[in-house]
Amino acid sequence: MQTNSIIELSRTAYQNNIDFLSQLFGKKTILSSVVKGNAYGHGIPEFVTMASACGVNHFSVFDADEARQIKAVLDQKITILIMGYLHQNDLEWIIENEIEFFVFDKKRLMDACKMAKKLNKKAIVHIEAETGMNRTGFEKNELATVVSILKKEKDNLVFKGLCTHYAGAESIANYYRIEKQIKRFNEIYQFFCENELKPLLRHSACSAASIMFPQTRMDLVRIGIMQYGLWPSQEVFITYLNAKKIKKDPLHRIITWKSVIMGIKKVKTAEFIGYGTSFMAKKDMKIAVIPIGYAHGYSRSLSNHGRVLIQGQRCMVIGLVNMNMVAVDITEIETVKKGEEVVLIGNQKELAITIASFSDYSSQLNYELLTRISKTIPRKIRN
Ligand SMILES: *Cc1c(COP(=O)(O)O)cnc(C)c1O
Repeated sequence: MQTNSIIELSRTAYQNNIDFLSQLFGKKTILSSVVKGNAYGHGIPEFVTMASACGVNHFSVFDADEARQIKAVLDQKITILIMGYLHQNDLEWIIENEIEFFVFDKKRLMDACKMAKKLNKKAIVHIEAETGMNRTGFEKNELATVVSILKKEKDNLVFKGLCTHYAGAESIANYYRIEKQIKRFNEIYQFFCENELKPLLRHSACSAASIMFPQTRMDLVRIGIMQYGLWPSQEVFITYLNAKKIKKDPLHRIITWKSVIMGIKKVKTAEFIGYGTSFMAKKDMKIAVIPIGYAHGYSRSLSNHGRVLIQGQRCMVIGLVNMNMVAVDITEIETVKKGEEVVLIGNQKELAITIASFSDYSSQLNYELLTRISKTIPRKIRN
């Protein structure tokens, strides 16, 4: 097990986020916790265990591998929905285990029928409609075929959901595109209803859509980034706040990423630090070396830009982020010892390194930064 760093998940913060979101969406809307990308870097096994203890019982993933990781730790009555890729060889396990899945092409629908027949068990499908993102989803001219298959194969298929995904609801710049998608989705729903095929659930919203376009919440919301305590974009956060009297962030970050000082060194004025010439000491300096680098997901673009916390003080990253190490400036801290705690993301005393600040420096999205945090770092749930 890796000992270079540790990731802690705050159960209190998560419960807070889930309570806030559940209240916002109301009892009639199912909250599906999106845990693709190793639960946005939080770690699927630990994260879903914590989520389940906090009352979440619906999870959405990208593929069967992620579904298996959930199944390995949770055997209670939970629902798993695969939104993305399915390999032919996974179909049997999926149907056998009553895992639900998006279907966006005829072949997958027919394969699901065949496998369901073979297993004598119904496949639980969510029909994804193309509404304007142009990624996955049945085209308008394919819907009549979908209707006839669903009718003909009703002994083998459960028409559990009708769904779609929006092309960038986090930005006002996409307002008209999203409005058009919502309209199309409603028309497609009507089309199914007119053909006497009513899905059990209608769903379309991700975090951003659920805030920017509340009408997209429908029967189920697929919430990723917000449950982790982060907003999809500044615009979404501001839109939320504008409608509120109390201008306070209702979401709490649940991840903390900590490492330790592995070495301390003094450097004289005019010396270069690390590889090449990217950093020259302009005064006599003291630096701490931390056993974290881009191999662990600490982005190389944080070279000379990132900050960490040591003894509650902000310390600049100096020089390049290496594969496994990074140096920080501790000149101003009097007594520092090897083995002392370093916070890469999270709070220490009065200060915090937020993911937003982090990703601004590295010009990565919240999403990307989080999912790049190495899977091999141990995760621990705390209160
Ligand atoms: C990732 C994803 C979501 C969740 O997105 P967030 O912005 O993190 O809430 C919802 N639906 C689909 C299809 C997704 O791929």
